[in-house]
Amino acid sequence: MKIGVLALQGDVAEHLQALIAVGVDAYPVKTAAEIVGIDAMVIPGGESTTIAKLARSFDLFDLIQGRIRSGMPVYGSCAGMILLADEVTDAAKGQETFGGLAVTVRRNAFGRQVDSFETDLHFQGISDGAIKAIFIRAPWVEQIGPEVSVLAEVAAFGHNHAVAVRQGNLLATSFHPEISGDNRVHRYFVEEVCRDLVSGK
Ligand code: GLN
Repeated sequence: MKIGVLALQGDVAEHLQALIAVGVDAYPVKTAAEIVGIDAMVIPGGESTTIAKLARSFDLFDLIQGRIRSGMPVYGSCAGMILLADEVTDAAKGQETFGGLAVTVRRNAFGRQVDSFETDLHFQGISDGAIKAIFIRAPWVEQIGPEVSVLAEVAAFGHNHAVAVRQGNLLATSFHPEISGDNRVHRYFVEEVCRDLVSGK
């Protein structure tokens, strides 16, 4: 199985390192030919508006959107979560997403006070202890469709907010496991999300 990390902008190297540590064949992708050749994709953290604009200008946007719609497993962290969401609150003017994930996410949801923070989370499907989650100007998930499962939540401003979700071939986290040195979310993506589809389950 070949996993491409979308390499237009963002923390590509950190995702590659985490995937390679999990034992998969992972490499950066930024051309149509490279994207056609992969079995699964990671969309990194970074800046969702920049990644979408670059995907448009390099003529990759429709290709990526088409592959997501046809069932390619994709994991998006932070900006990657925003790019997978069908709807975005507090989006930049004209901001586009690839979509596919039936959620509404709020960009920069945690606001100035807690712009960036770190916390331990329970992640459904990962049983061997809490996940160290690093949030950097992160979104949260505000609304979910019936086909979406919430895998992790965090309490902020008096409420619990979904910060990890899965819908079939799509996995998204508000936080950045790729910079925590804990590879279990990447392992979950490879072993649970990708395996289901590769084996045709
Ligand atoms: N706030 C950024 C955005 O809207 C995401 C931040 C991140 O990926 N760390 O794209």
